Order: sequence, then C-alpha cells, then structure tokens
Amino acid sequence: HGFGNWATIHALRNADRVAYVDGPEGVETTYAQLEERTNRLADALRTKGVAPGDRVALLCLNSPQMMEIYLAVAKLGAISVPVNFRLHPDEIAYVLGDSGASLLFVSTAFLPAATQALENETSVRETIRVPALAERVAGEGGDYEPLLASGAPERVVAEVGHDDVCVIMYTSGTTGRPKGAMLTHGNFFYNAINAMGFASGIGRTDVTISAAPLFHIGALGVHTLPFLLVGGSVVVIEAFAPDQWVEAAARHHVTQAFLVPAMWAAVAASPALETADLSSLRLAISGGAPCPLPVISAMRGHGVAFTEGFGMTETSPNAACLQPEDVVEHAGSVGRPVAFMDFRILDEMDQDVPQGEVGELCLRGPSIFVGYWNRPEATQEAIRDGWFHTGDMARVDAEGFYSLVDRKKDMVITGGENVYPIEVEQVLYGHPDVVEVAVIGVPDDTWGEIVTAVVVRTDGSTLTTDELRDWARERIAHFKAPRRVTFIDELPRNATGKILKRELRVSEGGGDA
Ligand code: ATP
Ligand code: MG
Repeated sequence: HGFGNWATIHALRNADRVAYVDGPEGVETTYAQLEERTNRLADALRTKGVAPGDRVALLCLNSPQMMEIYLAVAKLGAISVPVNFRLHPDEIAYVLGDSGASLLFVSTAFLPAATQALENETSVRETIRVPALAERVAGEGGDYEPLLASGAPERVVAEVGHDDVCVIMYTSGTTGRPKGAMLTHGNFFYNAINAMGFASGIGRTDVTISAAPLFHIGALGVHTLPFLLVGGSVVVIEAFAPDQWVEAAARHHVTQAFLVPAMWAAVAASPALETADLSSLRLAISGGAPCPLPVISAMRGHGVAFTEGFGMTETSPNAACLQPEDVVEHAGSVGRPVAFMDFRILDEMDQDVPQGEVGELCLRGPSIFVGYWNRPEATQEAIRDGWFHTGDMARVDAEGFYSLVDRKKDMVITGGENVYPIEVEQVLYGHPDVVEVAVIGVPDDTWGEIVTAVVVRTDGSTLTTDELRDWARERIAHFKAPRRVTFIDELPRNATGKILKRELRVSEGGGDA
C-alpha cells in the first residue's frame, strides 16, 4: 500500500527506466536500482532499531538519496520528518524535539547547524551524513553509502496501510509556530491521483525536474511523488539556480515542472531562457503563493504552457489548479478543485456563504492530513465536522473558479468593516515608489483596528503617508486605505520567503494575533 513500494511496481516491469537523475550532469538511478537501494536502506534502518511509527528526520539538500530515505522509511512503516534547512538551529532543535526523531540524516553542508541544534536536543541518538553532490561525483559516500551497503537487498514487506502516517511535514510557519502535519500513505496516494487529473496526463515517458526544496510539500507532492507512482523520471537538482535549471530542463527534455513563484520569476528573467529549447515542456506549474501576472506572461511568451495551483502542507498539497488556457482569462483565481477534493466556503457559524461572497475555505477529501502532531487542540480547531478549515478566505465565481482573498488571521476589522490586506497591498504596489508593502491591522480604541501599511520605499524616495493614503483613496474604498504608514528598510520573512505579518503586528504595537 505504502508509497515506499510504488517503485516496486516499476522495478518489476520497467526495471531499466530511469527513476532519478542526480543533478544536471545526470548520474541515473533506474527503478531496479532504486528498489534494491531502498530495500537495503530499510533493512539497515531496521537493524538500527527503527520500528513502525518511529520518526526519522531529514535535514537535507535535494538529492536522489533524500528520496531514497523517504521511501525506505515508508517501507518500514516509520515516519519521515523533513526539516527546513533555512531554519535557525534553535528552530531546527524545536522540530527535532517536537517530532521526537531518533535518527537524523544530514547533508554535509548542514553539519554545523545540526551540531548546534543537537546541543540542547536529546531525542536524536545518531546522525548519518549524506554526501553533497560534489562529494558523490568524487565517489565519496559519507555515512550514507556504507550504511546502505550494510543492509540486505531483499524486498522489505511491512504491514503498512493507507491510514498509517508516513510523513510529518511542518507548515511554513507564516501565521504561527510551524505545525507538524501528519500525512498518511493514503493521503499521498490520492494526492498522486489528483495530480494526474491536472498535470497533463503524466505517464511513464514523462520527466520532471525537482528543484524546489524537497522538505516542502510543493516539491515533494506536486510532481516528485506522483511521478514515482506512474513510473516517470525525476531530475533532482541540489540547489536551485535559474540558468542551471533552464539548461537541465532542456538537456533532460523535461515535460512537466513545478516551482514556487519567486523561482519562476528568476527563470523568467534568466538569459538562458532566450536560447534554450524547452519545447518538451508541456506544463509548468506555480504554487505556494500568488504568482505575479508578468511572470506568467513572460513564461507564456517563451511558448511554455504555464499554470497556477493552490495547495497546503495539510492537503499533500494538490487542492485546486487552473488549466493553462484559463490562466489569463481567470487571472487571480487558483482554479477549480482537483478530482478528489470537496470545497466549501463557510461563514463564522460554519454555514455556507452565498456564491460570490467571501468566507473561510474548507476542504474535505482523502488527501487531507489526519491532524497536527502533538497538537490535539490545533487539530480540533482545524478539522471540524470532517471539514478542514484552511484559514484562507476565499470566494467562488459562478463558473466554479476559486480565488483566495487573504488569510483569516490577517483580515483587518476596522469600524466594523472587513478589510483584506492583499487587496490594499495590490493597490499600494501600483505606486512607483513602493518596493514592498505589507498591510496589517493595529488595535485602536475607536476603530477596533486601523489599517496600517508597512512600506519599503525605493532608494531616495520622499513618499509620505499622506501621499500614499491619497493614492489608495483614489482607487479603493476610503475605509480600506491605510490610516497609518510606517516606512522600513526590509520586511521580515520566514524561511520560505513569506512575509511574517505576526512580527510586524508586534513591532507596530499590536501584540501577537
Ligand atoms: P502556517 O500554516 O505555518 O502559517 P503556511 O500556511 O504558509 O504556514 P504552507 O502549507 O507552506 O504553510 O502554505 C500554504 C498556504 O500558502 C495556503 O494556505 C495559502 O495561504 C498559500 N498559497 C498556496 N498556494 C497559493 C496560491 N497559488 N496563491 C496564493 N496563495 C497560495
Ligand atoms: Mg497554513
């Protein structure tokens, strides 16, 4: 049942097909090799005492080895805990301790961070070093290859069912402390089926490129795992760089690709795009945050079928997607639900709002997580009556296209009116002196909250609060225009690059929301 054994299907039937390509230079692992290597690793981990339900942490750069670890751990019925390597060592320690991981796979580059994290963290009893790409090319295996060689090559059969948790993936920590979403084998199975519905009919001859970090659900769930189920090939890129990405995509005749918007923006601006032949690329998908229209247009200008999807860690992640032909006409929408996902938009009383009105997006389906690890209260709050309350505010149009309005936690209520900061930000971004802006609510005795804009100006700009407020008032309702403006040098962001409004609320005198 488990995704640890998806490769087994292809090892038996398409043994010589390529499962993974290691970096742009292209050392290949066939499905037969993948099956044997993950059997060996699973057996070696079992010898180390890893039992069903145990947590194994991964602090890794993208590599075929990282995928092997996910698969071997899944084969045993144990649980992978990927850790965001951009976190501070104290935050890494938090994730390791919260998950109770007993083993830690760590890429050479992160040994110092791991050592620091482990100073005050006692659940991890052993660290296994995974070699970097340059080391692998030089034939250096770290602790990883000797460990793998110590295991037996026979197929590992553990009792694993669709309801068993196989990954605890921490959310990005945009609205609060990262929460460990418990994802099951069944979640990933249905997520792969959902991917097939929108990802332009993926099959054995398809090739994808995995360059967004594999600790994040976007990279893992949009293509990388679904490709394993269908027996396609994945080019794994250690660290994203736009020119190299374009060259690798062209060289390996990539047919489908996922990146987050900031990465697509870098690809769209890459000089390599001018000369590269990307004619094999049937579908390019962006997700994780809104993709700016100019980026979409630039990619389309290069003849790439480009689309946008919406998902979350808790939904494994594929939840909704546009078709490439709808991207411009329905700009600003994240599309229609995937096949096995029910959508509702509910008000504060959990009643459906009339079509076209804004409410909280709630989801139900077999790819939705089973709860937050160690957080029963957060789980109860999120999953009510079988519906996952996403915390995203949304509306749906008459044709069934969904648009995200903003996060519920970020909504501002001023003088009894709801203001969605993203709408205000979009207007302020239109001002030529505005480089970056975040709109938040700050508590106020008269208004409840007041709309506050935190703005990064262009170098040398003399833009004032009044000028910016007038700019907004000419374009949106007066109550939405910022009453207060603070100019700063840089906006605080989390490790995934999303703006941390909770920190801004504190610095603007609002306390944490
Ligand atoms: P936390 O839950 O810890 O606050 P997070 O919600 O940012 O962090 P993720 O699961 O990585 O963690 O991100 C999911 C969120 O990203 C969604 O709830 C939504 O707000 C946003 N998102 C995802 N895809 C899109 C998209 N295409 N357009 C706009 N927003 C998106
Ligand atoms: Mg979230």
